[in-house]
Amino acid sequence: MSPDLDVAVVGAGPAGLTAAHELRRAGLTVRVFESHAEVGGRMRSFRHDGWTVDQGAEQIPAQGYRATWELLDRLGVPRTDVPRIGGGLAVWRDGRARPGVAGPGALFGGGGGLGPRARLDLARLIGRIARHPGAYDGDRPEETPAGAATVRALARRYHPDLHDYLLQPLAGCCFGWDTARSTAAPMLSLLAEVGPPSGWRTYRDGMDLLARRLAGTVDVETGRTVHEVVEADGRALVRCADGEITARAAVLAVPAPVAAALRPQAPPEERAFLDACTFSSVLKVSCLLERPLAPTAGGRPLYLLLTPAVEEDVLSAVIADHVKHPGRAPRGRGLLTLMAAPGTVPGLLDSPPEETAGRLLAAAERYVPGLGAATLRTFVHAFPHALPEATPRALHLRGRFAGRPARAVEYAGDWVMLRPASEGAVRSGGLAASRVLSRLGARLPRPARVPAVAR
Ligand SMILES: Cc1cc2nc3c(=O)[nH]c(=O)nc-3n(C[C@H](O)[C@H](O)[C@H](O)COP(=O)(O)OP(=O)(O)OC[C@H]3O[C@@H](n4cnc5c(N)ncnc54)[C@H](O)[C@@H]3O)c2cc1C
Repeated sequence: MSPDLDVAVVGAGPAGLTAAHELRRAGLTVRVFESHAEVGGRMRSFRHDGWTVDQGAEQIPAQGYRATWELLDRLGVPRTDVPRIGGGLAVWRDGRARPGVAGPGALFGGGGGLGPRARLDLARLIGRIARHPGAYDGDRPEETPAGAATVRALARRYHPDLHDYLLQPLAGCCFGWDTARSTAAPMLSLLAEVGPPSGWRTYRDGMDLLARRLAGTVDVETGRTVHEVVEADGRALVRCADGEITARAAVLAVPAPVAAALRPQAPPEERAFLDACTFSSVLKVSCLLERPLAPTAGGRPLYLLLTPAVEEDVLSAVIADHVKHPGRAPRGRGLLTLMAAPGTVPGLLDSPPEETAGRLLAAAERYVPGLGAATLRTFVHAFPHALPEATPRALHLRGRFAGRPARAVEYAGDWVMLRPASEGAVRSGGLAASRVLSRLGARLPRPARVPAVAR
């Protein structure tokens, strides 16, 4: 009997949608099964009374993210739909916001409350990366000169401020990482690739733009949860509550712990990596404001205020979304995102949303006075599987996983690349598509020539 589909993709986040898009371009019949009502995964956004709330991801860089920008070009997304972020960045230190984290000229330009010795050490760290051009390749995090050192272990070679006021706040806010658990290699590769935060951009109408555009090119069934995926006679069987779909191949584009549960019979080298690919958990609270309050430095509104663990227990950052892009809130209103500190998240993940919002709002009053009184409504976003942790064990096993033979069941997701960012998801989607095509004996069409556009 012929299968129902050429390829079944599980998960309509950026990884699954990229894989589906590429496979569809190659002429295969593809369907994406998504448990949620909307596409986008951890890059979902929702609209409420004129506010656009980014539930997970907040920004992409203008520099690096090659696969993402190529895809955007191919989808015909103009640069005006991915504008530069408004407002600056600062780090909280000794009772005030210290700007300069996004300074020009260097990885982070110094500033950000770092003292002279710490700045010197930052220059040493930047020099160390610059001396090995190409060695910090985000596609091969297991091969960088940083080895399997954790962020904290690597930071021990430098002034303590480098960890406490730069690496920890960034890792905590951007990845939900505990720096004693996660390796430095993927973080250094990412920082080297994307350059200073002054180049960050955001999707104008919400961070789900890429997912929505990709979903427009493929067949997606939302509200359909997959319970199991098995390989039988060289085919994939995709089991849902209401039946089974047969396909010549399946791509599991869900976080690794979910993929591990969906595929109990994974072969040993897949199973070992799946089990090692633990994720951080992240909690965000979106505050819809009656007026555009934001943290400030020198009287100017900030987009992002990092609150280091040495200064603050409850929060890792305060983000002003209406400063990021004015379209995120109705005129005259505001939108703030409070990020829970990694150490606070486990205790709050299962708490009632009002309790979580109340705890974070109370802590944020220190950085944005009047916030509680100006908040009209809150939304809590909990991600038990937020970002791949990239522990030493996961890093150690990645090479073997990457070298596995192509099978009827493939994987995609940021964790496949151990890149804690959407670019990892997009790259993994393209990679999964190539692996499926090579096994099925099909080919991707040559990429259409994309005119070079200044970023
Ligand atoms: C709080 C937060 C902030 C972030 N900030 C940034 C940022 O600023 N910039 C950046 O580049 N990246 C950021 N990221 C990372 C980025 O969001 C992820 O790398 C990216 O979304 C991963 O895509 P994915 O397709 O691998 O997985 P996901 O986005 O998680 O998509 C997986 C999809 O699978 C679906 N699914 C799960 N189980 C099933 C099932 N059984 N059946 C059917 N469907 C299922 C899910 O509903 C989901 O839609 C952030 C992530 C988080 C959580």
